[in-house]
Amino acid sequence: MTHTRVAIVTGGARGIGAAVCRRLASDGMAVAVIDLDAATCKAVVDEIETAGGTALGVGADVADESAVDQAVRRVADELGAPTVLVNNAGVLRDNLLFRMSTDDWDSVMNVHLRGAFLMSRAVQKHMTEAAYGRIVNLSSTSAAGNRGQANYAAAKAGLQGFTKTLSIELGKFGVTANAVAPGFIETEMTAATAERVGVPFEEFKASAAAQIPVARTGRPDDVAHAVSFFASEEAGFVSGQVLYVAGGPVA
Ligand code: NAP
Repeated sequence: MTHTRVAIVTGGARGIGAAVCRRLASDGMAVAVIDLDAATCKAVVDEIETAGGTALGVGADVADESAVDQAVRRVADELGAPTVLVNNAGVLRDNLLFRMSTDDWDSVMNVHLRGAFLMSRAVQKHMTEAAYGRIVNLSSTSAAGNRGQANYAAAKAGLQGFTKTLSIELGKFGVTANAVAPGFIETEMTAATAERVGVPFEEFKASAAAQIPVARTGRPDDVAHAVSFFASEEAGFVSGQVLYVAGGPVA
């Protein structure tokens, strides 16, 4: 199979990231699945290869500068120059402000903001050389503010400013930057939140769905579809946008 583009998806081993990997592969891209532990990428890589696609699993912490540079170099060597980047890796360290540790704050800033910065800086070189690029950052409805998420809300709002700035700086090199901001999506991340607050996941989903205009919670494929649009060749005149994928308008 000949591939149109090489894409990197961070946090690609599970959840939304895994759905994005599968979708970009079925869109015809070779996909580098980056996650903390290379072994956890294997299932997604195998699935893509079984379907006739090309994928490479790479272990790297997106908050670690040398690991990021090494990972991007490896992708370029083994798959070709990456010209699509999806900054999806994320963690939650929810706590009310008075209970939030400095470590809770730093972990979230490091993975979401520093991670997206390091990855984008490493990959932009390949994009500007190719005079083509698509950067998609995962924001969240929490960017508008959410109780218990001072760290996460700040990071997700920060990613929107980061996205708009990249779109301004990189546009003349054929590179677009956009953000997808999901609402409630059924993944291990939201399952862990349900567990933390002591509510069965089905009940947690049902009470979330009751607040959502389309009357259901989201699935990873709902987000992957939006990412696929921004990552497509035809979306070249759409840049600096934030698309909410939340089953309704965002208050
Ligand atoms: P998830 O199921 O927790 O998956 C996140 C993935 O990121 C995991 O595979 C995790 O690896 C990986 N990761 C964490 N830290 C990393 C690091 N430093 N370097 C590389 N990989 C790292 O989360 P998800 O629900 O799919 O969320 C994906 C993205 O969407 C996140 O940015 C999240 O904030 C955003 N989002 C999610 C929702 C939602 O409702 N689920 C809503 C809005 C936005 P490990 O498994 O090794 O920890």
